[in-house]
Amino acid sequence: MSPPIPFMSLAPGEDAAEIRAGIDRVIARGWYILGPELEAFEAEFAAAAGATYAVGVGTGTDAIALTLRALGIGPGDEVITSPLSAAYSALAIMMAGATPVFADLDPDRLTLDPGRVDAAITPRTAALLPVHLYGQPADMTALSAIATRRNLVIVEDACQAHLATAAGRPVGTIGAAGAFSFYPTKNLGALGDAGAVITSDTQLADRLKRLRNGGQTTRYLHAEFGVNTRLDEIQAAILRARLPRLAGWTTRRRALAARYRRALHGAPVIVPPEQDPGHVYHLFPIRTSRRQALQDHLRHRGIETLIHYPIPIPLQPALAGIPGSRCPIAEQVCGEVCSLPLHPALTDADVDQVAAAVHAFR
Ligand SMILES: *Cc1c(COP(=O)(O)O)cnc(C)c1O
Repeated sequence: MSPPIPFMSLAPGEDAAEIRAGIDRVIARGWYILGPELEAFEAEFAAAAGATYAVGVGTGTDAIALTLRALGIGPGDEVITSPLSAAYSALAIMMAGATPVFADLDPDRLTLDPGRVDAAITPRTAALLPVHLYGQPADMTALSAIATRRNLVIVEDACQAHLATAAGRPVGTIGAAGAFSFYPTKNLGALGDAGAVITSDTQLADRLKRLRNGGQTTRYLHAEFGVNTRLDEIQAAILRARLPRLAGWTTRRRALAARYRRALHGAPVIVPPEQDPGHVYHLFPIRTSRRQALQDHLRHRGIETLIHYPIPIPLQPALAGIPGSRCPIAEQVCGEVCSLPLHPALTDADVDQVAAAVHAFR
């Protein structure tokens, strides 16, 4: 019997010593919020992501919500987004006071279908929130053309797409801003919650820095209604310790994904095609109409799988008050997707073992 293959492990590995050194540095300094580690991480992450500014916040959800607010989007405004994502994409729109509107998926890319976005635009539409799902960029060329033509702003949900590119351009730099999450499972993960917004707009960056800190312009002067969502110094130090390895980890993810594609050739599942070489493979979903049986089959062989995501966002009970439009493609995809293990510490032999088990599925 081969050794089990968990979906992933969140204990620090090759980077453990650097992480400890970063934590120790913060504790020795005794400065925990809005200090030198965050300032340095913001500069380093902005440079890695190809933007002028990065603004650290508490979570990826807050990164989206605060960016919408900083752009003046709120009650009465509609934001068009994807029905297939972490529900937080839509919840963030609601946190800003705006209304999420769902346009169905491009069935190959599994991201917003530009043609359906066009059809979903109303006089109230203020913004598009495409999601670079699983690490694959949305069709930003087509979405940008729509946004320009219809005078809409784009905020990119890049929470699964660190270092991804869309038609050669870094994600998060194509729209007005890009939101990133550093939740522990993400391609760049903290050891707790963290997020950031990247932008090259100085005014937007300044407003985000104010909004994340209670709306303060100077100490104890709250010029506007902000919230309290900061990326703390310990998490910033951990992210700084990891950031230099991110490019190498991304290369490894791509190599593992390519190996899966070759090894799964002829297997009784659908492997969604790669639509852009800038894909960073946060996840590796396959599709089957017999998902429960496949998951049971793999679990029996020690292989752990997860579902991203089982429920289309518009069908979530939390969105019951929002007038929903049906998204039949997303509904079908939610019933079929199953993520195979994929992370930088996975070995070639692990991939071969998982693929062989999928081939053996009857
Ligand atoms: C993780 C994630 C979020 C939310 O990020 P948090 O840091 O958990 O708040 C939003 N959108 C997508 C696509 C995500 O994967």
